[in-house]
Amino acid sequence: MPTDRTLPHVALTRDAAEKISSSPMTSGDLVFRFAPSERLYIAETVETKPDLRMQVTIPREFTALRWGDSDHHGQWIRDPSPDINLHHLILLQRPGVRLPFDAFRKLVRGVEHPGRNHGLLITHEPGLTEDERLIGASEFAGWLVHRSGVLPIRLDIEPEVVGIQQLAGRWPVELLAGHSVMLVGCGSIGGAAAEALAGSGLGRVELVDPDRFLWHNTIRHVLGPESVGRRKVDALKSHLERRWPDQNANAHPLDIVEDAHLLRPLFDRVDLVLCAADGIAPRRVVSHLARRAAKPAVLACVLDSGALGEVIRLRPTPRFGCLLCLRQDLVDQGAMDAEADQELGYGAGLSHLPMTAVPPDLRYIGTLAAKVAVATLLESLHGDRTQRLPGEHAVVGLNPVHEHGPPFNLEHAGEIRWRSLPPPRPACPTCGPA
Ligand SMILES: [Zn+2]
Repeated sequence: MPTDRTLPHVALTRDAAEKISSSPMTSGDLVFRFAPSERLYIAETVETKPDLRMQVTIPREFTALRWGDSDHHGQWIRDPSPDINLHHLILLQRPGVRLPFDAFRKLVRGVEHPGRNHGLLITHEPGLTEDERLIGASEFAGWLVHRSGVLPIRLDIEPEVVGIQQLAGRWPVELLAGHSVMLVGCGSIGGAAAEALAGSGLGRVELVDPDRFLWHNTIRHVLGPESVGRRKVDALKSHLERRWPDQNANAHPLDIVEDAHLLRPLFDRVDLVLCAADGIAPRRVVSHLARRAAKPAVLACVLDSGALGEVIRLRPTPRFGCLLCLRQDLVDQGAMDAEADQELGYGAGLSHLPMTAVPPDLRYIGTLAAKVAVATLLESLHGDRTQRLPGEHAVVGLNPVHEHGPPFNLEHAGEIRWRSLPPPRPACPTCGPA
């Protein structure tokens, strides 16, 4: 007999639960598979009519429910006595309490004697009241039956809805399912942003990146060794489709700078552009093309060898300028030009060197960028006041080195400084009339 700490757990897929609840019999056989390393029982066949044992469907994605060795005998019983599943709930909260078999047999008529081994019993009590459900009682309850006593065990049933729709009613999943984001740059920050966009319920993502996923990427990326050698966009699409099947992901193995003419039409077909690409040119192209397409853009990067993170929201309104307007404003204020103009020989810029940032810092910035993107969609397109942000420009302390002037002079790791953006410069080629 197992102790309470080693009690097994029972997994019932939706199909198994339906086979039991729709059976015309009031009790029947069950066969379980058992995975000893997980102490997990999985219902495998259900007797639905006398001597008719039906194989249970286990959806492919629940890989661990395919483990284990078969032929563990069990039984199901419907409505053996009033409130049996409420008893189960109460007993679960009193670890160590077990019911003598003879007493249990009076409560649950028809329970089979387990013989020398222990048996698994599932009681089914349809028609629970709303109050019973609210306190956590379930239609199905699991019991470990041994001649020396009976213990309640935890049982989990595959819910009707698995996935982002589980959040319906608490988060605007329906609204977000109708929106789309172009994600430019599918590296470590972009991969984390993609996960966060999907996890927020965004309906469609257009992935843009010309590069392959290589061995050196594995340490920082949401993708792992299984993706080495593939194009990042294709591997990330596969990953998202597996993890977030409700979302629609499209792959574009293109370079936002060299293939701008091919990607330009895509700006019109999305609601927002999130740029997590390394380097100066891709960010400038996104800033320019998004403004021209009258779409908001969110730019995310880490600066100065991973000391700081930065997320910029660019909105196509006369109130706020573009990326170049922001950078020029910072230069005018005497701040360093964070556009990393090392390529131009300035030498004073903060450099884009994401390779030195640790993986969680990159994911933090990617997740923040996705939050900014989702909040922008909800606030600007749906007037959701709960999604207002404190500003347009976030500087984030990751590993602050205290060498920079404002606004990059953060004191603390984890600190986020929000600022506004300057208005467009006169004669800005991006912000001005086309
Ligand atoms: Zn501008």
